[in-house]
Amino acid sequence: MSRLVLKFGGTSVGDVDRIARAARIVAAERTPGRGLAVVVSAIAGETDRLVQLTRAFAVRADGGPVDPKTFDDEYDVVVSSGEQVTTGLLALALRNIGIAARSWQGWQIPFRTDNAHAKARIGDVRCNEIGASIDAGVVAVVPGFQGVTEDQRITTLGRGGSDTSAVALAAALGAERCDIYTDVDGVYTTDPRIVAKARRLDRISYEEMLEMASLGAKVLQTRSVELAFAKRVPIRVLSSLVEPGAPNPGTLVCPEEEIVEKQVVSGVAYSRDEAKVTLLGVEDHPGVAADIFGRLADANVNVDMIVQSEARQPGRQNIVFTCPDRDAPKAAAVIQEAREKIGVEEIHVRRDVAKVSVIGIGMRSQVGVARTMFAALAQKGINIEAIATSEIKISVLIDAAYTELAVRALHTAYGLDAA
Ligand code: ASP
Ligand code: MG
Repeated sequence: MSRLVLKFGGTSVGDVDRIARAARIVAAERTPGRGLAVVVSAIAGETDRLVQLTRAFAVRADGGPVDPKTFDDEYDVVVSSGEQVTTGLLALALRNIGIAARSWQGWQIPFRTDNAHAKARIGDVRCNEIGASIDAGVVAVVPGFQGVTEDQRITTLGRGGSDTSAVALAAALGAERCDIYTDVDGVYTTDPRIVAKARRLDRISYEEMLEMASLGAKVLQTRSVELAFAKRVPIRVLSSLVEPGAPNPGTLVCPEEEIVEKQVVSGVAYSRDEAKVTLLGVEDHPGVAADIFGRLADANVNVDMIVQSEARQPGRQNIVFTCPDRDAPKAAAVIQEAREKIGVEEIHVRRDVAKVSVIGIGMRSQVGVARTMFAALAQKGINIEAIATSEIKISVLIDAAYTELAVRALHTAYGLDAA
């Protein structure tokens, strides 16, 4: 008996016609000896609508802020309901075309999570019952996003969490693969809205996909890729907008060993949600960096690139770091508050910056990859404000106005343009 998990995102179950098409796609995957579980998101826009409803009570009647501890658990009850609707609808659509199907809610499986409401993490997925049911030929329709705590409270996994639900279920069921049906037909070398010559990748490694997802490619939730990587679940990303039977190869996210032709660079990613904080004339002695970044961590500022260099004055250094744009005011305030104690002369914040990254497992064994990047940017007159590298990625921080130009130039420079 083999098992397969399919997942349909919000636009793929966006209305009853699309739900009917999803049912036809599921039907086409049904073969004797193969159990199917289908994970669904809420109808596109529905989770936003539900979040909005809770906002009415996010401020106390006396005007003060509500404590998340007395808010997030009921927030989860409200926002998880969008997925209940689509499980029922898809089960009905399947029965409508003669396929045995039933819905399961998150608590019925259960998708056990921790207590971190609104951003819960899945622990154990015990699926003996659902496993037996799908093996008996009944398609299971399962809500993404939903979980339940040990003490029976409903949780949600954070926005975009249905991908993670699907991968977790695939891992727990020992499924051969997790097919993610979405409104794009695969993972592209870069954002096709920026580069018309972007190409769909046939395969991409978990590690590359992880970098792409965390660097701003929105196809898959980062956490879902981490989980797939850890549990070795192959993911296929493909279009839900074509009828079954039509060509729909998608992109396979798989172990590196299964990729024969390793590209030096497989993709170019970008993020405009960046800010650059410059600390000038920082006292230079052991413990200063620990102090600065400790304060930022305590304030929940997610720091990304860090560059430290000697300042002109003796005994001083300059530190530049980046963080998500929305965190920039908080980051600056935290340092400002302790400016004298830490010993910082000046703080500057720039919010109109973007991070552009090139990613590829082939980088591990290739020289000159950075040179190609820097030369391509120089040729377009784009200045680099900070650089960060990992084994399979090079990121640069640039003026946000040049984001598209940089992405196009790099896409061409690494030979990624479609013929
Ligand atoms: N419906 C939830 C959201 O919009 C979860 C998901 O679709 O992945 O965030
Ligand atoms: Mg999604």
